[in-house]
Amino acid sequence: MAEGDSNSQTLSPALAERLRISEIFCSIQGESRSAGWPTVFVRLTGCPLRCTWCDTEYAFHGGGWRSIDDIVQEVATHKTHHVCVTGGEPLAQKRCLTLLQRLCDAGHEVSLETSGALDVSQVDPRVIKVVDLKAPGSGEHKRNRWQNIPSLAPSDQIKFVLADRADYDWANAVLTEHKLHERCEVLYSPVHGSLAPRELAEWILADHLPVRMQMQLHKLLWGDVPGH
Ligand code: SF4
Repeated sequence: MAEGDSNSQTLSPALAERLRISEIFCSIQGESRSAGWPTVFVRLTGCPLRCTWCDTEYAFHGGGWRSIDDIVQEVATHKTHHVCVTGGEPLAQKRCLTLLQRLCDAGHEVSLETSGALDVSQVDPRVIKVVDLKAPGSGEHKRNRWQNIPSLAPSDQIKFVLADRADYDWANAVLTEHKLHERCEVLYSPVHGSLAPRELAEWILADHLPVRMQMQLHKLLWGDVPGH
């Protein structure tokens, strides 16, 4: 349970509609099918996982409580159609579901980046879910929630972040076993600084995989600086 959920029943409705937010910023979407679009990112604080290669550890703690009204209003000031709710693990705060709904109601194209460890079945169907399947190199592959797969629609995406050849072979076995590419788009991405992008590209081509390779565009542009 996320901090603050335990006392929500005793708070007034306005206060109960709050989320702990690490940052809200506008940047270029660096990943997924929306890569390249100017996008507002709403980063929720907290994550129950600890992936070895996590690049957003600063979002594990801290941030501040914001009302959902306030968040939606701030997003509007950036004047972008695309909004990405991310973390940390955004679904670790239950009221994230309300935020997603409200952002869709406001007319945005909303995507959700989630670890794949928590239930996605209650996410508003208008939201594009980008669900990780954690490979062994992350150290968190036992947390994959396989029951999420039937909840994925053709508009959603499954993402593998791969640290080495063993991760790649593991991902291929999962792809084949669950026929993931028949359900939605599948993304393969190299861990920055661990697996050479060209090597991954050559493996994908050699194996004729029905997957889409992607690089993290924001890292090419700005490196690992928070706020991008
Ligand atoms: S799920 Fe995401 S935020 Fe959480 S530890 Fe893994 S990479 Fe970091």
